[in-house]
Amino acid sequence: MVAVTSWGRLGQFEHRLHRLSDRLQVAAQLKHDRYGLAYGMGRSYGDVCLNPGGVLWDATGLDRFIAFDEHQGRLVCEAGLQIRDVQRLCVPRGWMLPVVPGTQFVTVGGAIANDIHGKNHHQAGSFGDHVRRFSLARTDGSLSECRPGEPLFAASVGGLGLTGVITEVELQLKRVPGPWLSVETLPYRDLSEFFALADASEADWEHTVSWVDCLNGAGRGIFMRANSVDAGSDDSRMRRPSRPLSVPVVPPVSLINPLSLRPFNALYFHLKKANRTSLQHYEPFFHPLDNVLDWNRIYGPRGFFQYQCVLPRAVGQEAIRSMLKRIARSGTGSFLAVLKTFGDRHPVGMLSFAMPGVTLALDFPNQGERTLQLLAALDAIVREAGGRLYMAKDARMPVDLFESGYSRLPEFLPLRDPGISSAMSRRLMGS
Ligand SMILES: Cc1cc2nc3c(=O)[nH]c(=O)nc-3n(C[C@H](O)[C@H](O)[C@H](O)COP(=O)(O)OP(=O)(O)OC[C@H]3O[C@@H](n4cnc5c(N)ncnc54)[C@H](O)[C@@H]3O)c2cc1C
Repeated sequence: MVAVTSWGRLGQFEHRLHRLSDRLQVAAQLKHDRYGLAYGMGRSYGDVCLNPGGVLWDATGLDRFIAFDEHQGRLVCEAGLQIRDVQRLCVPRGWMLPVVPGTQFVTVGGAIANDIHGKNHHQAGSFGDHVRRFSLARTDGSLSECRPGEPLFAASVGGLGLTGVITEVELQLKRVPGPWLSVETLPYRDLSEFFALADASEADWEHTVSWVDCLNGAGRGIFMRANSVDAGSDDSRMRRPSRPLSVPVVPPVSLINPLSLRPFNALYFHLKKANRTSLQHYEPFFHPLDNVLDWNRIYGPRGFFQYQCVLPRAVGQEAIRSMLKRIARSGTGSFLAVLKTFGDRHPVGMLSFAMPGVTLALDFPNQGERTLQLLAALDAIVREAGGRLYMAKDARMPVDLFESGYSRLPEFLPLRDPGISSAMSRRLMGS
């Protein structure tokens, strides 16, 4: 047995870890093991990637490139390959993954199972929109090819690993002129300015995202928008990736607390508030947190909760205002508070998170009951607004909020693999 945790470090749980390394043998191995769950890089924050007391199929050994068509930008690879490795092979050849999350240390299989989104949802949708096919191994020993439009495809994209283990994937990449982005940074004073900037940027800017100061009642923040560019040979203004730092130990208490947060947020806003244009390499722009390895340790031994919701656009502004007020009143704040709009796109997966609207992501140090009460208050706002929470980040959402947020759940359940289960599926789906 091995103790495994997820990114939120809310606990260490014993698992039997079985490494998958031969994609052609996975179906046979699953038939033999049963009652397991695929595990990628464990970059999900809560219990979606955990199966305490049971088997975890470590998929990171499935890390081979299989074929790359440089003319059409089609990549076939194993599902345990990390996004960083895909990018490092493809970007120098003029192709890039069309959707990437805030860290590049995630596997292709994990990206499909949570149907992850990036900063360009308004133009590119989510990861599943760019998957042409995948092979899915199930615990009955079968290996099926799944393609867009098929029920097992729609169940497995955003399917939380519960429909089988993805072994091989074909992806459609996006043409890029190189690794550089032209990035504009603009401050906003309140939420209405944020929505005006988002509306004005969506047609012409491929990537948009913002940091919001959740301790400032008005909801001020910093908006960033970016487009891929051919930077030519002028590298004088370019921000390249730097060598990552690391947090070497877990401090005895969370370093994120009201005393540290208020001055941090004020300082960050004032440092960034000048309008600025810069050239940035895609790595620091898409994955700024990868520059500090093990940054999740700063929350101390009790770990932290990440809370990410999406709210319909029509009620989003009001609901976000109420959430920020509630957080400011609680005296506990979020260090990483990200606000961004999603595009008007129908999600591919039955349980995909991204839907048309606005999404807010927040981190809270785990202070036990006090934090759970705050999150329950935020749940009430999300429920009332007709929104939903992101399972990749969740460790505690109530069943009623899950069921009201994910209306295609009844379609999904019959397509689950009965030999697969996770801490999250037992908590939210009863098995
Ligand atoms: C710093 C940081 C920033 C992030 N930013 C974003 C963001 O911007 N957008 C976003 O959407 N998410 C974001 N995330 C969340 C992250 O992208 C997802 O949790 C992702 O799914 C993690 O992939 P993983 O390989 O670590 O998978 P895990 O966390 O190990 O597993 C996630 C799920 O995938 C399943 N799974 C893994 N491999 C397979 C497989 N081969 N076959 C079938 N199922 C499989 C697991 O069973 C589990 O249900 C971020 C996470 C971090 C830590």
